Amino acid sequence: MTRRKLAAGNWKMNGTAEMLTEVAQLTGGTVGTPPQILICPPSTLIAPAVEATAMTGVEIGAQDCHAQPNGAYTGDLSADMLKTAGARAVIVGHSERRAGHHESNADVRAKAEATWAAGLVAILCIGESAAERDRADVLDIIAAQLDASVPDGATGATLVVAYEPIWAIGTGKVPTLGQIIETHDMLRARLVARFDAEGDAIRLLYGGSVKPSNAAEIFQAENVDGALVGGASLKAADFQPIIDALAAS
Ligand code: PEP
Repeated sequence: MTRRKLAAGNWKMNGTAEMLTEVAQLTGGTVGTPPQILICPPSTLIAPAVEATAMTGVEIGAQDCHAQPNGAYTGDLSADMLKTAGARAVIVGHSERRAGHHESNADVRAKAEATWAAGLVAILCIGESAAERDRADVLDIIAAQLDASVPDGATGATLVVAYEPIWAIGTGKVPTLGQIIETHDMLRARLVARFDAEGDAIRLLYGGSVKPSNAAEIFQAENVDGALVGGASLKAADFQPIIDALAAS
């Protein structure tokens, strides 16, 4: 199965309109197979980001959505609203939302379904805590999170799964290549067991302190189809070498 590589950037609550000129410079390059490039800025920057990248191959996504299509949810945004602004994908279940907004696996599943109902791709995040990483059953913990968060009917066209160990996000710590391979191989097997050929088509991203200096090693893993990148996606000078390493992998 050939899966198109994906370099996705999560700006979190960072970024200014001026930074969109950086995004417009990003390119899949000429070495290897050009990966898909997706930037998820704060929601207020989605429409300007779409405009700034109109003549480039860069796509724009969102960082979260509400599970309902509309209603009395002050301050929230529906997937359809994000689509109208120009988003192509929505990150759901990021660990910062699971922790800071008490989102359960069931909440994440509902958000993924809302994303699909709007015709958008769900980039669904899972990953263990530092304490869980030290447990003998860590793979079972991650598998249970995957099973409970991913809705029925997932396909390669509608779902991307991002494995993001919580202890690696924004810390500079990264799992060993062996741990990444072991986890991604488990996720692939589990998705294939549940979704057959579509499970093989669903892309698996690694996320957590990906940098220009470690990207090439991480992308060696067969079942790593790209990366979800936080801090290093804020500057083209950092994100472009990661995209280049992905293209060359
Ligand atoms: C993230 O927040 O999804 C992330 C991976 O962050 P960072 O790359 O900064 O660790």
